[in-house]
Amino acid sequence: MKEASFSHQVKDELAHHWPGKRCCRTAELAALVRVDGRLHLHGAGRCSLHLSSENAAVTRKSLRFFSDLFDVSGEISVRRSRLSQANNYLLYIDERPGLAQVLNELGVLDDSLNLRAEIPGRLTKSDCCAASFARGLFLGGGFVSHPRGQYHLELVTESYQLAMTAQELFNRFEIRARVIEKRNRYTLYLK
Ligand SMILES: [Zn+2]
Repeated sequence: MKEASFSHQVKDELAHHWPGKRCCRTAELAALVRVDGRLHLHGAGRCSLHLSSENAAVTRKSLRFFSDLFDVSGEISVRRSRLSQANNYLLYIDERPGLAQVLNELGVLDDSLNLRAEIPGRLTKSDCCAASFARGLFLGGGFVSHPRGQYHLELVTESYQLAMTAQELFNRFEIRARVIEKRNRYTLYLK
């Protein structure tokens, strides 16, 4: 099995895990939005959002979280990259009243509805939520190598705060994680 397809398979399995508690679902969606989301601010507290993923099950899970937690609907579309021949699934959440408050609850916007770089501690305070947040990070941007020998997991992000939060989370579960910075991208390595 190719490495990429192994990652895909692991994500498919994790995408079908549904956290029982609302706090954990919120944490997992917050991580997915951090990694896969692009926020469009239109001023005066108005915004829209899209999430992109190469995994259809991950995109459907994000949509299900939005609908379940916040009664927010969205639309999914598929694009095929001519370069990589991979499908790219896009979830669009259009501008609507209350979306900024939802993004505030997800820790993407601060109380003044400006972008916030750091991840609020409340999202990962309980261990149950921390595990869900970590799952969301992996579903959004992780890569896991072939199962032969030792598992090796990588997570790439452009956000220093996200890399540090992820490192702290894994350390909390006594999994050692290293962060390496290269050209303004942070890669977290787990073995
Ligand atoms: Zn929880």
